[in-house]
Amino acid sequence: MDLHLTKKIALITGSTKGIGKAIAIELAREGADVIINGRRDAEVQAVVAELQADFPQVTIQGVAADLAKTADQERLFTEIPHIDILINNMGIFQPMDYFEIDDATWNKFFEVNVLAGNALARHYLPKMLQQDFGRIIFIASEEAVMPSGEMPQYSMTKSMNLSLAKSLSKLTVATHVTVNTIMPGSTLTEGVAKMLHDMYADTDLPEDQWEADFMKNHRSRSQIQRLIRPEEIGRFTAFVASPDHGAFSGEALRMDGGLVPTIF
Ligand code: NAD
Repeated sequence: MDLHLTKKIALITGSTKGIGKAIAIELAREGADVIINGRRDAEVQAVVAELQADFPQVTIQGVAADLAKTADQERLFTEIPHIDILINNMGIFQPMDYFEIDDATWNKFFEVNVLAGNALARHYLPKMLQQDFGRIIFIASEEAVMPSGEMPQYSMTKSMNLSLAKSLSKLTVATHVTVNTIMPGSTLTEGVAKMLHDMYADTDLPEDQWEADFMKNHRSRSQIQRLIRPEEIGRFTAFVASPDHGAFSGEALRMDGGLVPTIF
């Protein structure tokens, strides 16, 4: 399937690893010019070089910036004045005891997981409306609709992503700009691989059984009983970003392996 993304310019925040990198790869595979973002320049440049070698037909750029900081956002806006696709992917998560979460921590999660993506949308959305094409996709989580209670400061921000994306979509009525949210379930990123290692390295369980055991005992509601692969989220995100798929508008799209037990 040709997604008609050739020469579209896509910025993916937090794309030096994990889900963000997988989205960048799939967009580049589909012919989009891609902007990689992370906080450390060496990591950004390494991913830029890797993707440019793999996809010589597209242009891969990199911006090292902490997009939770206003000054870094301003620098991004100067360096990258125009994009067609904004993937608000970067996010932090950490299981925490509710009574241990202080106000500074609540604020940090709000700033990184909500305000940063909001600032980028506020800047780029008017230009998308002007050219009558654009895609803004927030990467939320199944925690947005099914808070586990393991990390309330994170779940709150992911619910906010849904509300924010829906509000922004109201600004796009009768245009070819769309704003949507994708909600991945537990996905095998480097961070989750490390978590499995920390949980099982000192046990007798062979490594090839860690994932199945984790799903059985910690994600028992998952219908696929395996972790989602980042490239699955990447392919779906590229599909939603396609100019051919403008009927996704203001949607909260689940890709959680059946983890959320309800129909809606
Ligand atoms: P990750 O930690 O592997 O990668 C996050 C990326 O964001 C990294 O490149 C990191 O450098 C970058 N980043 C973090 N703070 C930043 C900042 N202030 N400025 C710029 N870059 C910053 O994360 P992941 O698991 O790939 O998650 C990506 C998104 O998917 C997050 O929003 C997360 O909440 C969501 N998600 C992940 C899972 C999962 O199981 N991995 C499940 C559901 C949702």
